[in-house]
Amino acid sequence: MSGFTAAKLGLEIFGTEPTGTFEEARDGCPHKGTDFSSGGTPQPFRAGIAGKVVWAPGGRYGTITIAPHHEPGTLVQYLHCSKFNVQQGDHVSPDTFIGETGSVGTSVVHLHLHVWKPGNSKHPCWVLSAGSANPVQRNFVDPETWATDGWKDLDGTDNPVPPSHQPMEIAQP
Ligand SMILES: [Zn+2]
Repeated sequence: MSGFTAAKLGLEIFGTEPTGTFEEARDGCPHKGTDFSSGGTPQPFRAGIAGKVVWAPGGRYGTITIAPHHEPGTLVQYLHCSKFNVQQGDHVSPDTFIGETGSVGTSVVHLHLHVWKPGNSKHPCWVLSAGSANPVQRNFVDPETWATDGWKDLDGTDNPVPPSHQPMEIAQP
């Protein structure tokens, strides 16, 4: 498996198994990503991929958003962060410590990570602004099976972010 693991994120000392898995039941809406523990306190974590920080980190859910160099159009988001070591426009490598876990927008300190690909939502509750004239489709895939490999180096490649991936969606886990 080449997807995200606690070890890739530098969090393996807090447990090698995710504390929350993709699409598990969550109050009537399947979980949109994977949760990783940091032992109950904020801890630094790595990007696990090479890419570019495409939006200003922050928001209601303490989100870092990275466009992977190896897969144009996809975004990886790291949520609930208590600290940010990167800013918009930065290029990161898999080993870059991009921030610290936290509980911003949630109750328990952890890292929620999701992988957002272009396309339609698999579950109706994953749509943002449902009922509006322009609902935003969010097509999440399993971070544990999505290929994090394939990156070459910090080549400065700026992959396009599709119109559906707008900063207004930075917030929601
Ligand atoms: Zn989560």
